[in-house]
Amino acid sequence: MLGGYAGKLLKVDLSSGCIEPMELPEDVLRRYLGGCGLGAYLFGKFASPKDDPYAPHMPLMFLTGPLTGTPVLCSGRHSVVAKSPLTGIWGEASSGGKWGSTLKHAGFDGVIFIGRSEEPVYLLIDNGSAKLVDASQLWGLGTYETSDYITKRHGKDFVTSCIGPAGENLVPLACIISDGREARAAGRGGLGAVMGSKMLKAVAVRGNIAPPISHPEELRESVRELARMVARDGSGLREYGTSSGTVPLEASGDMPSKNWKGGRWQEGAKAISGMELSRLFLKKPTFCARCVIGCGRDIEITEGPYAGVSGAGPEYEGVALLGALSEVDDLAAICKANDLCNQYGIDVMSVGGVIAFAREAYEHGYLQDSGLDLSWGNADSMIELIEMITFKKGIGELLGKGVKVASKELGEETEEFAIHVKGMELPAHDPRAYQSVGLGYATSNRGACHLQAWSGIFENRATMPSLGYEQPLDRFSAEGKAKLVFDMQNLMSMFDSLSLCKYLIFGGVKVPTLVRWTNLVTGWSLDQDEFMEIGERTFNAKRLFNVQCGISSEDDILPKRILTQPKESGEAAGHLSQLDKMLPEYYSVRGWDDAGRPKPDLLHKLRMEQA
Ligand code: SF4
Repeated sequence: MLGGYAGKLLKVDLSSGCIEPMELPEDVLRRYLGGCGLGAYLFGKFASPKDDPYAPHMPLMFLTGPLTGTPVLCSGRHSVVAKSPLTGIWGEASSGGKWGSTLKHAGFDGVIFIGRSEEPVYLLIDNGSAKLVDASQLWGLGTYETSDYITKRHGKDFVTSCIGPAGENLVPLACIISDGREARAAGRGGLGAVMGSKMLKAVAVRGNIAPPISHPEELRESVRELARMVARDGSGLREYGTSSGTVPLEASGDMPSKNWKGGRWQEGAKAISGMELSRLFLKKPTFCARCVIGCGRDIEITEGPYAGVSGAGPEYEGVALLGALSEVDDLAAICKANDLCNQYGIDVMSVGGVIAFAREAYEHGYLQDSGLDLSWGNADSMIELIEMITFKKGIGELLGKGVKVASKELGEETEEFAIHVKGMELPAHDPRAYQSVGLGYATSNRGACHLQAWSGIFENRATMPSLGYEQPLDRFSAEGKAKLVFDMQNLMSMFDSLSLCKYLIFGGVKVPTLVRWTNLVTGWSLDQDEFMEIGERTFNAKRLFNVQCGISSEDDILPKRILTQPKESGEAAGHLSQLDKMLPEYYSVRGWDDAGRPKPDLLHKLRMEQA
């Protein structure tokens, strides 16, 4: 029996209520693994590139990888895949927590939803069985309340993944939240709205069926050897969370401020840092399944205007995009805003981007009659806007469509400061500070995303000798960046297909270890070349879907501000993205034609059905 897999997916037709198991041939699993990679394969079977993301026949998939639910470190993640209503192209989101490993232990590798229910429902998966349950009484509730209801009604061992009001209201920034108050988000691309369009409120899972492991003793030994090192190297993340990076990233010019036009924001960065978060509000770190790092934050605010906030605290992206991008340095207000995003089920990153866009529009004379003070640094309007976006009130309806659409509707002048790629708001890492980051944003399959390549860390402190990166590269040079982004997109595709946390890299986990763990779990004998080729295949499968959606080289671009306006101060001052130098070389390394399409011989080499 193939190790690591439960051996079946669930296919749920919400229109008919029919639930049936679905098996996949081993050859498909070996070529696409699981998570987002398998999603890209299944998209070829279930999704029509030209159709509306909300069309009932379009799929919404929750997928684990072969290492999910095994003893492998940091293996609790899962992926959600659907056509994105925010970008109109491939949509994927990876979530931490315990939901993924619990789904695997319930006996399933993933769930594919098609159709649309007439009434709100949730899917209850319990140790090998599954049924749809009426969710009328949950419709309108926040994500924490939804999770609480399900554990109270069905048992405390159930782990829930659900939408809040934003998903129900089909806000294109809506996300999916797992694990109750630990609030792990499948954040980007509006996939919560796809779930809402299907009238699917939640998927709750419980189980104790461990997947088979091909070489359990050797795996346990290998994991034990590395656990101490990963825990040691992750101690900073455990103590201060991912926002421990706020001060150094601001200093390096990586953290943007004032809708990407600001320079240094030194005092603000200190005020919203992970150190301050721990000092003021941290109750304890939280851990995804099998994690020894614990970067999650469980916080509580007990006094002041935001007293009562209790649950998951903001990560780096949250403090940087809600805080620095709008010059809001009130950490308690950011925690409140982050908490609202979690409970309403809305992507904190895109919300941060669209609020900063609204402030600059306001500065230029737009949005004057909204009733809000949208001046830089105003925390009250941030909180009000999250409410308005979620419930489509006033300008919230426009802003909830994302920066790209909001800018189009407001007028051409606003394009100057509409910061997005393919309709996705940028993460808080500046392409002017790290050349490979810009190329990664321009070519990421889901629109601006730092994690699809995560190449910036290899221009800073990380190395990957087995791929030829013995030393970090010069961050301001374009040289070698096409190859770096190619390699790291393929590698990060593997993390997302195995459903592993990428912070393992900071714990010293390199490609040979990933290959070894995959083989020990599955029983295969992949070598590094075959392993990396799977990453290349899955990346190209997503690109092919996007090409069929109409994406071409004309869309592999960066916002004008990043290409033409250097930062005025800080370490990255004077630098611009050199995308024009890197992109043609990248197409060549990838084996794509000048229009950005994978060439037929590449598809045949990768043994892709789409070829
Ligand atoms: S490092 Fe953080 S995101 Fe990664 S598995 Fe651990 S708790 Fe989850």
